[in-house]
Amino acid sequence: MRTLLVEDDDLIGNGVEAGLRQAAFTVDWARDGREAQLALGTTKYALVVLDLGLPKMSGAEILAWLRDCANDVPVLVLTARGNVVDRVGTLEAGADDYLGKPFDLSELVARCRALLRRSQGRSVEVMRYHDIVVDAASKTVLRDGARVPLTAREWAVLLQLLSHQGVPQSKSRLEESVYRWQEEIESNAIEVHVSNLRKKLGADLIRTVRGIGYLMDKK
Ligand code: CA
Repeated sequence: MRTLLVEDDDLIGNGVEAGLRQAAFTVDWARDGREAQLALGTTKYALVVLDLGLPKMSGAEILAWLRDCANDVPVLVLTARGNVVDRVGTLEAGADDYLGKPFDLSELVARCRALLRRSQGRSVEVMRYHDIVVDAASKTVLRDGARVPLTAREWAVLLQLLSHQGVPQSKSRLEESVYRWQEEIESNAIEVHVSNLRKKLGADLIRTVRGIGYLMDKK
């Protein structure tokens, strides 16, 4: 899931980026408010992790701008611990959750997953789709009970399609959810991932919608 991390502190940013990538999130990292605004204006993110104290434009201003533009991307705000004014203010300003610094990385990842589940209308991490079972928390896929190893990209494509069942995903939408900034993308990369997923998980799993993209039908 393509995620925007907005954090000016290198140490915290490095830790969060590594933790989220480890948990199979596709992470872009913006280090100031303007960079974040530019990213949010050009890329569709599934989730934003937003620090409040930022150069050029504050986290609160970014949040207000997002909600003014009717962008309802889930936002997790990072606040200074114990700052009740910040916490209440950010929730009222349209944040979906907050976490006080310093925080535990595993808690951050768990909260990010919970926000994604909520935005996708799910209450559990485990998704069943015909003969496959996908567990987002442990990053495992079972087919007829047997574990199927997937690459990080295949996993990201599968999650994007699975969480948008019934809605065709264009090639560029899939690229956007799977690749970070400045990553080289081969022109047929998505076709290759889809073809591998079909080989591993079943030829009928993903449907090609001519001229539009790929689709996992609603179960
Ligand atoms: Ca900061």
